[in-house]
Amino acid sequence: MANPSILILPGDGIGPEVMAEVRKIIGWFGENRNLNFDLSEDLVGGAAYDAHGTPLTDATMAKAQSVDAVLLGAVGGPAYDDLDFSVKPERGLLRLRKEMDLFANLRPAQCFDALADFSSLKKDVVAGLDIMIVRELTSGSYFGEPRGISDLPDGQRVGINTQRYTTNEIRRVTRSAFELARKRGNKVCSMEKANVMESGILWREEVTWVHQNEYPDVELSHMYADNGAMQLVRWPKQFDVIVTDNLFGDILSDCAAMLTGSLGMLPSASLGVPMESGRPKAMYEPVHGSAPDITGQGKANPIACILSFAMALRYSFDKGGEAARLENAIETVLAAGARTADLLGPEGGSPISTSEMGDVIINALDASL
Ligand code: NAD
Repeated sequence: MANPSILILPGDGIGPEVMAEVRKIIGWFGENRNLNFDLSEDLVGGAAYDAHGTPLTDATMAKAQSVDAVLLGAVGGPAYDDLDFSVKPERGLLRLRKEMDLFANLRPAQCFDALADFSSLKKDVVAGLDIMIVRELTSGSYFGEPRGISDLPDGQRVGINTQRYTTNEIRRVTRSAFELARKRGNKVCSMEKANVMESGILWREEVTWVHQNEYPDVELSHMYADNGAMQLVRWPKQFDVIVTDNLFGDILSDCAAMLTGSLGMLPSASLGVPMESGRPKAMYEPVHGSAPDITGQGKANPIACILSFAMALRYSFDKGGEAARLENAIETVLAAGARTADLLGPEGGSPISTSEMGDVIINALDASL
């Protein structure tokens, strides 16, 4: 059988720096766990614009469609801020998400014990936290028509976006959430605003339909999204999997992410429909951006990108045990006090570099054998 294939798109800024550490980790799994991948690498974002005048070439797009998983670093940076909207680095990312039809965005919020003091919430509220937010990614008010800004007859202007969801769009992301819940704590909480929005009423009805007809074994609850935001900071451990739409998911997942401390720790997965192989179309990427303020200084925390690879092991390659091995190695090095600069508290300490963090994680993986 051919090795599974991964397209690596390091992107801009700290993207290539953190991706170099992921490559070390992938190499370790090949050497020590007989888990080999066919790796290819290409340009995205500003790097692709510099080389080709576009943030994503058709050839790279075609490659992304043909591999088993895409691993992306980050895109963007001040050098590209004044580019036309159509060729901005972020357009490359959006094209990948849209053309691969990655409709389910998985954002775990997991608090490593060693970093529990980092949260702005009390330690007992976040210690041991492990929740997953599933955000619908390809529809809703970021894509709905009509949209735009136009002039009104009385001289005012009006800005319009449309919150629009179809039955199928709701059902498919709901199924992703129930599938995940079955592998975790078996609980789903769906969040919308059915009290004031028709699209929210439909959302609630369709989630309920999928539950009753396909996943009656999973516990389902519904919550208005504003209450959800409050509950997330009051007692987040009440949740297992949260499923919500594009707009509410954007906000709620950032809110949940901050429960756990640093941006340098947060992975994500975006999944689409299953391919012929049975694997879903998939792209894995850290939540953070290209961090131009620390680029090239060896200060970037590679853990978000490494945890994104752990998600790939779990969700694309069915290697949950190996994903746990990698997550445990990260937990071990954090518990032993390894810190990149972003993980130092107000009391300071001496940080290790991006590549040193990769190295200590490799050492912990060696110790796990
Ligand atoms: P950012 O996430 O790049 O950085 C925010 C802050 O967090 C910075 O101080 C940065 O140094 C720090 N930080 C981020 N990742 C870190 C890591 N791994 N280790 C240590 N510190 C880290 O967000 P920003 O500054 O608002 O945006 C910078 C550029 O990135 C912009 O061009 C933006 O459009 C782009 N961006 C891209 C993505 C993406 O590729 N998915 C996401 C967000 C922003």
